[in-house]
Amino acid sequence: MFSSKQISTSLWAATAPARTAAPALRGRAETDVAVIGGGFSGLSTALHLARAGQKVTVLEGMEVGYGGSGRNNGQVIPTMTAAEPDAIEERFGETGERFVALIRDSASYLFDTARAEGIDCEGEQTGWFQPAHRESRMRLSARRVEAWAKRGAPCRLLDRAESARVVGSDQWFGGMYNPTGGHINPLALARGLAAACEKHGATLHEHSPVSTVERKDGKWHLRMKDGATLVARSVMLASNAYTGQLEPTLSPRVARSVVPVLSWQMATQPLDEEQRKVVIPGREAVSDTHGDLRFFRFDKRNRLVTGGALVCTLNGPERLKALVGSRLAEAFPVLGTPKFDFVWNGFIGMTEDRFPFISQLGPDFWCWAGCNGRGVALSISLGRELAEAIAGRPASELALPMSDPKPIPFHGLIKSVAPPVMLPLYRWRDGRD
Ligand SMILES: Cc1cc2nc3c(=O)[nH]c(=O)nc-3n(C[C@H](O)[C@H](O)[C@H](O)COP(=O)(O)OP(=O)(O)OC[C@H]3O[C@@H](n4cnc5c(N)ncnc54)[C@H](O)[C@@H]3O)c2cc1C
Repeated sequence: MFSSKQISTSLWAATAPARTAAPALRGRAETDVAVIGGGFSGLSTALHLARAGQKVTVLEGMEVGYGGSGRNNGQVIPTMTAAEPDAIEERFGETGERFVALIRDSASYLFDTARAEGIDCEGEQTGWFQPAHRESRMRLSARRVEAWAKRGAPCRLLDRAESARVVGSDQWFGGMYNPTGGHINPLALARGLAAACEKHGATLHEHSPVSTVERKDGKWHLRMKDGATLVARSVMLASNAYTGQLEPTLSPRVARSVVPVLSWQMATQPLDEEQRKVVIPGREAVSDTHGDLRFFRFDKRNRLVTGGALVCTLNGPERLKALVGSRLAEAFPVLGTPKFDFVWNGFIGMTEDRFPFISQLGPDFWCWAGCNGRGVALSISLGRELAEAIAGRPASELALPMSDPKPIPFHGLIKSVAPPVMLPLYRWRDGRD
């Protein structure tokens, strides 16, 4: 079986600026705020805290960007996969309205943050397009455009002809377009955020997996297996889908509330100029309405970065090359038989209700997890809000729809049967109106 350690085979590992890992934590240290996890969530929280003058220490079990943040498709998308604005506001009232506004502004906030910190993450704010894969799905697109436009998002409904111009294929029927979206090199952003954290005075330790977090004498004690200990006033747990993967004793309650689902990413050889003029000529980020998602975007070197899902991971890369290659060839005949240079994967944190949980696990102990595949833009904005909460601003004033983690019964079983059961179900639904 292919493990999720495949980050080293990723396009991003081959193209992001190199970074020398920060030293591991040794002995005993004290800090105001301890952040567990060096992905977008942890780094954004640390960055906002450090900018505000707090003493903050990030403990990353492997290397910065090891989790979803260094492996994703890099699509910067100002919506969630399943939760619609009406439902969020209905469930969380005024906090829900603030959260919807946070999502609405999240793509621009990511690009602004990268610019403000001088991070070269190959960011292209070319827009995000969600084409409808069946005519019937246009009703969903229209509803989404209406709901977001009502809340001030600059999105538009494109018809079939406009969709064909944006995507460079007439396979789709139109859909929702939002000009604030776009794409990045995600590992470059993670590494750039780490450097920005250090520049603002945060301390980073990599190869420092936290085993346990215990409350003692009014402080949190974060321990590693080798005995190294960090003592902190506040903790932010930002290990998302990777909670429990490096150290099973790290918050089993959070780990059991998220189902880590393997998502495969691939990058083609660079396209030539003729192909480039046809395929997504405006370089938007595209992810469609399939449950078995079709998604593509260009990187800086004109590779098409795409991917897919598999029911069984046996011989995954070769089977994916055939499956995704034939889908691409069908949508874009100009590509001929696409050749792939990179295949890698990573875990997406799914929750039962497809909504993230943002929780307090104890006094001054914060956490969010369960991005459900849409966390690039969201995690940067949530980091800002969580930094405010950690600094003492009441959560009731912030865009933080709080809820408890909900451990999933038979989690071990669900983790292994989810892809074989859910993917065929998604594919079956994809073929119906
Ligand atoms: C393949 C893939 C494609 C995706 N594509 C997109 C996309 O195009 N657009 C989008 O919006 N979203 C996408 N996502 C989701 C997005 O990547 C995530 O939502 C986002 O990166 C989550 O960031 P995070 O910081 O919360 O978690 P992560 O980036 O997963 O970081 C968690 C970190 O915690 C560390 N950790 C775990 N255990 C410990 C421990 N015991 N001690 C210390 N550290 C620990 C891990 O090593 C890891 O670095 C994708 C995800 C994947 C996996």
